Amino acid sequence: MNEPGHILSGGCLCGAVRYEIDYRGEEASLCHCAMCRRQSGGAFMGFVTVPRAHYRLLKGEITFRRSSDIGRRGFCAECATPLVMDYNYEDERTGIVTGSLDDPEAVPPVLHWGVESMLSWLKLDDGLPRLTTDQDPEYAKAIGLHNPDVT
Ligand SMILES: [Zn+2]
Ligand SMILES: [Zn+2]
Repeated sequence: MNEPGHILSGGCLCGAVRYEIDYRGEEASLCHCAMCRRQSGGAFMGFVTVPRAHYRLLKGEITFRRSSDIGRRGFCAECATPLVMDYNYEDERTGIVTGSLDDPEAVPPVLHWGVESMLSWLKLDDGLPRLTTDQDPEYAKAIGLHNPDVT
């Protein structure tokens, strides 16, 4: 993580919320948990977890909804675009929804997470590691991966 930071911008579908992050090369993951699927309406969600101090809200505001005992999900109240995911035990970092970045190509995922919930019809041949939710969650937490807030 010693490479110099560069600014990545993002925002919601309607444009009410805009943000930027000072990106330092943090690794991204794709989460296949049922909660991410439900919230996004898609097959999975991508996240990159960054220090909260490196995240700046430029316009609008993020509405939060507690999604479990340990997590909350932030979205645009106007258009419902998912934007961030925070954990109670993690005050200093926040999970950015990579699909809300203007250039998601800038943060390719390095692994799949929560694959016990991965849809059977989803065919991905990317060769990336696949972890289940109960596979070493402390490790995942330590390296800042999105950890599904399953209850
Ligand atoms: Zn919006
Ligand atoms: Zn998830």
